[in-house]
Amino acid sequence: MDFDDRRVDVGGVQDRRGGGLRGGGLRGGGLRGGGLRRGGRGVPVAVGGGGLGVVGLLLVLAVNLLGGGGGAGGGGFDLSQVQPGVLGSGPLAGGESTAELEERCNGEGALERYADCFVIKVSNEVDEVWTEELPAATGVDYRPPSLVFFSGGTSTGCGGASSEVGPFYCPPDEAIFLDLDFLDQLQAQFGAEGRYATAYIVAHEAGHHLQTLLGTERQVRAAQQAGPDRRNALSVALELQADCYAGVWGRQADDRGNLSVTGAEVDQALRAAAAVGDDRIQQRTQGRVDPESWTHGSAEQRRSWYERGFTTGDPAACDTFAR
Ligand SMILES: [Zn+2]
Repeated sequence: MDFDDRRVDVGGVQDRRGGGLRGGGLRGGGLRGGGLRRGGRGVPVAVGGGGLGVVGLLLVLAVNLLGGGGGAGGGGFDLSQVQPGVLGSGPLAGGESTAELEERCNGEGALERYADCFVIKVSNEVDEVWTEELPAATGVDYRPPSLVFFSGGTSTGCGGASSEVGPFYCPPDEAIFLDLDFLDQLQAQFGAEGRYATAYIVAHEAGHHLQTLLGTERQVRAAQQAGPDRRNALSVALELQADCYAGVWGRQADDRGNLSVTGAEVDQALRAAAAVGDDRIQQRTQGRVDPESWTHGSAEQRRSWYERGFTTGDPAACDTFAR
């Protein structure tokens, strides 16, 4: 993985981590221990499971939050705590000022050393690519989402989120939320090797941001309310499109030199996309597969839509609703 030489820009980052940055105080507070409710069923949070499974599960739990208010209860979100407009432009709350964060992330080896800096840099490259590509491909202007780091829990325009939900995108806030545990876990369990899987996760969430900018998300929500029987199918199409957009970004970033990748790194993303397929997750967490309840698509669907995005580099190739 080879990033461009531009400085890491922390301008769009909000830090809501309570106890400072690395090794923060709120970490390990037990929030992780519980199962996350999803569609009325408890889904074990398999922290400590091997390989991509952990990232995969976190991602799936996270993206489930987007599934039409998250089905029953919307895993982890308490919708009674909706607080729109919480994303002000206040100072960072993590015990490190914006200037300090910027300095740390631009230090020698920072992108290898600090998961948060890596995520910020990926997010910079996501913004750079889509700032040019989105208007070119769709005529719609791009505005970057916020990137919010939190620990413990935080309020969002989608409700309150606890740390166990993993990364997610919240449309009303136009923000990608990442918890500190998740970053620590990525760092500890994947180190440098699996890092392009992390880039895929950020790019997938950014794909949801595109869907908000393009109005797709709003249309899907409306269609889901009009036809509840199609709710899951529409959710799958939305998720597969975000995977495809992630692939488009990967390809564009590689072509433009924003983030050059090797074939092995592309495979990391493909494996990550497959690992978060509903069939894989269900097999792992329930021991059986129930396609009726899918909200994100199968491993094969997710992998192949990412691949289609990466192969074509064209957002127009991501019409997952056409079939
Ligand atoms: Zn998603």
